[in-house]
Amino acid sequence: MSQVETRFIFITGGVVSSLGKGIAAASIGRLLRSRGFSVQIQKFDPYINVDPGTMSPYQHGEVFVTEDGAETDLDLGHYERFTDANASRASNVTAGGIYNSVIRRERRGDYLGATVQVVPHITDEIKQRIRVVADSSDVDFVITEIGGTVGDIESLPFLEAIRQFPVEVGRRRCMFIHLTLVPYIGHAGELKTKPTQHSVNELRRIGINPDMVLCRSESVLSTEIRKKIALFASLPVNAIISAYDVADVYSCPLTFHEQGVDDFILAEHFGIDAPAPDLDSWKAFVDRAASLTAEVRIAIVGKYVRLEDAYLSVAEALRHSGIHHGCRVKIEWVDSETVGEPQVDALLRGVDGILIPGGFGGRGFEGKIAAARIARESGIPYLGVCLGMHVAVSEFARHVAGMPGANSTEMDPETPYPVIDLLPEQREIADMGGTMRLGADPVKIHPDTRAHAAYGESVVYERHRHRYEVNNHLRKRLESAGLVFSGTTPDERLVEITELPRDVHPFYVASQFHPEFKSRPGRPSPLFREFVGAAEAHRRARLDEQAVAPDGEITAAQFG
Ligand code: GLN
Repeated sequence: MSQVETRFIFITGGVVSSLGKGIAAASIGRLLRSRGFSVQIQKFDPYINVDPGTMSPYQHGEVFVTEDGAETDLDLGHYERFTDANASRASNVTAGGIYNSVIRRERRGDYLGATVQVVPHITDEIKQRIRVVADSSDVDFVITEIGGTVGDIESLPFLEAIRQFPVEVGRRRCMFIHLTLVPYIGHAGELKTKPTQHSVNELRRIGINPDMVLCRSESVLSTEIRKKIALFASLPVNAIISAYDVADVYSCPLTFHEQGVDDFILAEHFGIDAPAPDLDSWKAFVDRAASLTAEVRIAIVGKYVRLEDAYLSVAEALRHSGIHHGCRVKIEWVDSETVGEPQVDALLRGVDGILIPGGFGGRGFEGKIAAARIARESGIPYLGVCLGMHVAVSEFARHVAGMPGANSTEMDPETPYPVIDLLPEQREIADMGGTMRLGADPVKIHPDTRAHAAYGESVVYERHRHRYEVNNHLRKRLESAGLVFSGTTPDERLVEITELPRDVHPFYVASQFHPEFKSRPGRPSPLFREFVGAAEAHRRARLDEQAVAPDGEITAAQFG
């Protein structure tokens, strides 16, 4: 049982999807943290998949992996980056997951002959999943975001469960926040509050009265508009918040704070006497992010580049690292199937860093090999993540270690040199869902390597999501050709990090794990940080080269 009296905040969405409920939940989480409270954020997703692990990135964006190895919605990445509190398996619950548990229990005979129904059995299971977060982590606040939009068929059991929830824990411990859209109708030159009215009514019809309404809009809402919304929502005007568009999502907690969101939640709604907010370091980060001058160009070479959300945490880790070094990171999204086309190769040769992120399957794999080769041969800083390490090892095997046709058996089961092969424990597995090597594991960092210089520690914990690994039978051969295995499992059985020595390449590092998941604003992932630092050095070196004529004479460029 929980030792503290946990409060529960529910966040629902109205009018349309994609309004940024996740960012809103994360921002409120940040504000409560800044007032000295512990927070856990949880997301309910109304779809039937048990988790998003088997969904295409085009359907769902990135799969975010938690410390305890759950494959979850990308909003959990926002939660972790904003609150700096690790999420867990309990933090993402889908309708499929709920039905799965209830049906398993029914098959076991646990319901003793009862008819199993949405109300109460499904709703009870949902409420149980909220309580579990409060009980297991003793937090002051649990924020639960309900995916989807009020009015969706799929969301109904979740909304019904949160409607019932205050009956069990007391209304004074619960708060309902509704996020809506206030669109600007160009030809009328007006902001329209009608969709918000409808959506608040829809919520009331279900039996939920919102305590605060966050209104998404392009620009700041006037007090007049807020008063109008307040009136029909039966709320004081300071409960109507203008969640206007901002250039940087990390500034959302600050814009909420300026409008008194944390004071309203704590003092007015819950009647809690809270310490003053400590937002100094957050603000410093946001200010720093807004004042970057230099720009490094990093190419991300992947298969799902048409949807940037597919690599959300990678992009965020690059941003955190850029801000650390005082430079803006401009990402060049490169479809790996286009590598080999002359203009694409020219672009790759002109960037300051090349990153190959995680991925599955053979499509575009040869393009990734070609991109890694360009990075290796042209001395362009390279970071490979998971599949990006498989690419780096296969490329090195083929073109340096004398193993033509070397490959991962994921791409070519008949390869003469299977430098990447299935993990032994993966051989018998038939189910695709939740069966990879998942979650945080210790990584031993070997001394006198780039990895060690980056981490400054000999054991770190990083998160995994893969089935294939470096083949131990070919490890020696790769090593004697010059590839360095700078990170391994503590027993040295699995390779975790590969790199090229400093005298061979300025920065060529790849990891089997996904360092991006642990990157935070103000505390970038060490490997990303060093990679972007190397890219920045590469950019500067190139500028110097351009400024100095081949014979060493100073050119006009230096005089501006
Ligand atoms: N497809 C590869 C594997 O399963 C890499 C996975 C990844 O990049 N996340 O091992």
